[in-house]
Amino acid sequence: MATSAQFRKLYDDLFGVYGELPCPLNYRTVFQLLCAIMLSAQCRDERVNMITKELFKIAPDPEAMAALEVGKIAEIIKPCGIYRNKSVNLSNCAKMLLSKFGGEVPRSMEELTQLPGIGRKSANAILGNGFGIPGFPVDTHVIRVLSRLGYAANVDPAKIEAQVVAKTPPKMWTNFSHLIIAHGRRICHAGKHPECETCILSDRCSYFRNHNGLL
Ligand code: SF4
Repeated sequence: MATSAQFRKLYDDLFGVYGELPCPLNYRTVFQLLCAIMLSAQCRDERVNMITKELFKIAPDPEAMAALEVGKIAEIIKPCGIYRNKSVNLSNCAKMLLSKFGGEVPRSMEELTQLPGIGRKSANAILGNGFGIPGFPVDTHVIRVLSRLGYAANVDPAKIEAQVVAKTPPKMWTNFSHLIIAHGRRICHAGKHPECETCILSDRCSYFRNHNGLL
């Protein structure tokens, strides 16, 4: 597992390349952010933005989303992966926001994870991007990059999140996750061919050492 100093250097080096990264999803309200995050599972951000452009025209808030037939939601979000589950979750989530939270997106991990389709990763992304409350979302890119570096003791998202937040200040968390995700998408790809030759992290990477006979 990495030390605080190693995480700090990782942040600084990635920040030097990518800078302060905004959330790539388009939204005008926290409810719309929640919907976009829900749709982004197994779907590219660009496609989510195309879908939400249409979806938010007719369902911009919990009241309108809850009033839509699930079949209508499914029809709109069909270009997205696993759209049947997502349409049910969008509908039930909007209904729960109305029945339990006064139509507002709640501001705590405990409450957010009660909503259908919202786990810790999504809740952290909503807290950080929607409310400015520090959170460290751990997605598949974060797991892969930190594991390859040798900075994660295992591949359990909750444990990786706990490791990182224990070793870094809260003000780093949201952008740290964005930076690692960006690096995972652009350089440290899934599969057998990450672009280690051009990677600025190769000097500290376990995967690189192991795959280049340096151990
Ligand atoms: S050196 Fe290779 S495996 Fe390591 S972080 Fe960079 S791209 Fe990923």
